[in-house]
Amino acid sequence: MNAPESLLNQARNGDRRALGRAITLIESTRRDHREQARRLLEAALPESGKAIRLGITGTPGVGKSTFIETFGLHLLEAGRRVAVVAVDPSSKRGGGSILGDKTRMPELSRSLDAFIRPSPTAGTLGGVARRTRETMLLLESVGYDVVIVETVGVGQSETAVAEMVDMFLLLLSPAGGDELQGIKKGVVELADLFLINKADGDLEKAAQRAAAEYRHALGLLKPSYKDWQPKVQLCSALTGAGISKVWETVTAFHESLAPSGALKDRRAAQAQAWFWQTLEEGLLQTLKDDPAVKAALPALEGAVRDGTTTPTLAAEDLLARFLRRS
Ligand code: GDP
Repeated sequence: MNAPESLLNQARNGDRRALGRAITLIESTRRDHREQARRLLEAALPESGKAIRLGITGTPGVGKSTFIETFGLHLLEAGRRVAVVAVDPSSKRGGGSILGDKTRMPELSRSLDAFIRPSPTAGTLGGVARRTRETMLLLESVGYDVVIVETVGVGQSETAVAEMVDMFLLLLSPAGGDELQGIKKGVVELADLFLINKADGDLEKAAQRAAAEYRHALGLLKPSYKDWQPKVQLCSALTGAGISKVWETVTAFHESLAPSGALKDRRAAQAQAWFWQTLEEGLLQTLKDDPAVKAALPALEGAVRDGTTTPTLAAEDLLARFLRRS
């Protein structure tokens, strides 16, 4: 294996296999790989942060892959370099439909100016999110200037994605308000842009009605940025209608938030939250791995369940045992 720094240089010079290997290092949980990944990220960090970071979600079948393919190709035409990564803790390599799978975006994946990486294999949401964030930093540092983070609109992963991107796009079908009820309210509140896809052919009228409904419903939501009112737009990933307008909106979003420092502030808050999340996860794991804690845990947990002690007393007891040792 090459030194991480030279792997990064190769990736910067357009070597896609080196880039793939660098990401594999980042995704690995092996201790020696973690050390190499740390060096890699340290070398990558000064050149990262220059991309527009976009999150995309939507229920399965709404057209995410078709949209990313069409939108991605449009970005390439506009002279951008596009990377697509995914957060899907349930994905398994080798079976089923994998988010970010190359076969879902055939034309985009063939372009040398695009890079598509499937979601890291199944793991905890926190673990998958960490690897995706680090992969995003790496991709930025080798010159991808639009990074799209995709997730399915069914679980917890939307919040994790919103916490790593500048702008969050929610793809919707022309079905209208009923669909909005099926999507968790929390997810709707994360969106900076609502895109009603499949606004073509017989569906176009329904899409327009849905857009009006969403615009009405949006008036009731609190925007996530002070300087940005979430928007509702129509598009067709199939015909390409409305796709250039999506890019215009993304650019307008950046232009309205970057000068005031709002974007920088959001990234700073995201980095800080990520730092604390990592600390909390690391501490909890250290606690669980501690021999004294392991020995005392079953009895204490039993006592909590039986009601012979209170959860607070048991937790304090356990922490005291842990602290005496460390
Ligand atoms: P995903 O599960 O969200 O990634 O959805 P896909 O991109 O796989 O699309 C699901 C189905 O919807 C496919 O059959 C697509 O061809 C179709 N589809 C996607 N976008 C459009 C669109 O803009 N218009 C129409 N009519 N169909 C679309």
